Amino acid sequence: MNLILLGPPGSGKGTQSEFIVKKYGYCQLSTGDILRQAVANNTSTGIIVKDILAIGKLVGDELIIKIMEEKLSETQSMPGRIFDGFPRTILQAKSLEDLLHRNQMKLDLIIELSVDENILIDRITKRASESSVIREDDSIQVLKKRLDIYNVETKPIIDYYSSHYQLHKIDGMMTVDAVSKKIEVLIDSN
Ligand code: ADP
Repeated sequence: MNLILLGPPGSGKGTQSEFIVKKYGYCQLSTGDILRQAVANNTSTGIIVKDILAIGKLVGDELIIKIMEEKLSETQSMPGRIFDGFPRTILQAKSLEDLLHRNQMKLDLIIELSVDENILIDRITKRASESSVIREDDSIQVLKKRLDIYNVETKPIIDYYSSHYQLHKIDGMMTVDAVSKKIEVLIDSN
């Protein structure tokens, strides 16, 4: 099972990925987590992306695609993969199709979590104030930048997927459990 979770920052992709990992044993491929880990470990990738992450811009497609290519082959034997934070551009979306094809896989489920912008800002500022892990990009200015970039660069892939695949839209403003339940129904009926 290859599942994409689409949605803006704060839409609940991470929370729902956790639910799917627990319930179905799939692995979560979160490009944000992978990049933050690289920064924390000061790897060569980490050094390249550190400043980009801090200002909320997108890391170059080529680097992201290379990372995903590695992850995809590492997770070949898993029962499923959740793509969280990837793809974020049309080029990444097309590359994912290519990568899956080369690994004899296909895209099985595409889910969009939709949440109003004012709620996203509230959620992320709350998350930042409660979390013990400081995310440099959770400041209000960088968050606004991330939302702008989402609207300009990532929203178009929602149109792309709606016209090429079946895109399942879920109201991400429902309770966490209600959203999980909808996801469960989609996975079980796939
Ligand atoms: P968010 O909570 O904003 O959805 P993520 O944790 O998914 O953020 O990603 C954090 C940062 O990592 C992004 O702002 C961006 O700099 C970088 N990043 C993550 N995924 C990608 C991607 N697919 N393409 C380019 N940059 C990415």
